[in-house]
Amino acid sequence: MLGKGLMVFSKDNRHPKSRTFRRFRELIVVGFSLAALVVVMTTGAAPPAHAAATTPAVGQAVVTGARVAGDHVRTRFVLDLDQEVTPVVSALADPYRLILDFPQIGFDLPSEAGREGRGLVSAWRYGLFAPGKSRIVVDLGEPVAVDKMFVLPAVDDQPVRLVIDLVKSNRSDFIVFARESRANRHVAARATAGKGDRLTPARDRDRPLIMLDPGHGGIDTGAVGIAGTLEKAVVLDFSSLLKRKLEKSGRYQVQLTRENDTFIPLRERVAIGHRAEADLFISIHADSVRRGRKTVRGATVYTLSDRASDALAAELAESENMSDVIAGVELAEEPTDVTDILLDLARRETRNFSVHFARILVAELESAVRLINNPHRSAGFTVLKAHDVPSVLVELGYLSNEHDEKLLISEAWRERMANAMVEAIDAYFRPRLAQDAAQTGTVAAQ
Ligand SMILES: [Zn+2]
Repeated sequence: MLGKGLMVFSKDNRHPKSRTFRRFRELIVVGFSLAALVVVMTTGAAPPAHAAATTPAVGQAVVTGARVAGDHVRTRFVLDLDQEVTPVVSALADPYRLILDFPQIGFDLPSEAGREGRGLVSAWRYGLFAPGKSRIVVDLGEPVAVDKMFVLPAVDDQPVRLVIDLVKSNRSDFIVFARESRANRHVAARATAGKGDRLTPARDRDRPLIMLDPGHGGIDTGAVGIAGTLEKAVVLDFSSLLKRKLEKSGRYQVQLTRENDTFIPLRERVAIGHRAEADLFISIHADSVRRGRKTVRGATVYTLSDRASDALAAELAESENMSDVIAGVELAEEPTDVTDILLDLARRETRNFSVHFARILVAELESAVRLINNPHRSAGFTVLKAHDVPSVLVELGYLSNEHDEKLLISEAWRERMANAMVEAIDAYFRPRLAQDAAQTGTVAAQ
């Protein structure tokens, strides 16, 4: 398996990973077996200069895995960590190197880690640099620029990830970078703040941002129930209710993609979530089906997939994706799916989070409302295509079913449904909220 694409260096036997993580890894490996340009890793062992010092002290961060992927234009360097830590990045020329300075951290990596690189990275090594200071030195085959650096917080059993994206540069720019980075050790902070990438945690935001997306609106009414209920109205009412409940908890910021009866193109909805750097995007619907109006009913959670999980999911995605056509939006040429390897990595990672949330949501809804059989389904919904915002689409029920329609307009049912969704959102963000609380406690105690 490892020979095909991405090799993940992580001592799984000593750090058993969750099923989620294994699935993620499988996704990557499977995905990348297609992409010969993806590369990776390290073999062979230049023992770190201070091997003995790699044993972590109590409480200090530990690097548990490392990956290098990409090509000679863009290369991504990823470290798995058991807690968040951000290095200061600087550079040295002749030979070209990137220096990552950390507070003292541990390295629990295979002995061969760092021996070989990929793309712009020719090799790397790690170890204690000075008392209380650890360092990773990345050997570069050619001049680079740090395009992005960000920390992905741990979710579920997935580790914290430190991601550094390098792009090909030129000698004179690199020399400037090296000089400035030595003089000014704040490169790391600037690189982190510089890009409007959702994966960059918004440091000034103390609560997760949830983007609720009431489907349809304005000229696009969506489904119409047997008794005349309009999907666009039902989903807006429900989204507003859910927003109030989430805000009342005090744990989240909540935004709606539309607050009134307005039409918004699908790609604009995606863009709204992306621009806001939302932590979670939930599109709310109550569609109809053409066939099986009597039998197709119950809440359903959809995630994005290239191939539909079943005929119903395929039908729904197709009709949902017609929204822009219905509204007469002039469709620009559909952007061909970019084959950029880093975007692809981000997409896969995001998709993994989406599926993780969908599972939590289904589990919560199960005890609260009636679900369809196989309540987690997937298809190619355009509105779920943000590469950097975990996204799900919830069918509250189906307006083509008269029983569902009655529930959808029932106050009591909406309350139950919204409460269950709040529970699921709480469960999804619990690790992050707990971590934030612990950090706040630490600061307060100082
Ligand atoms: Zn809909």
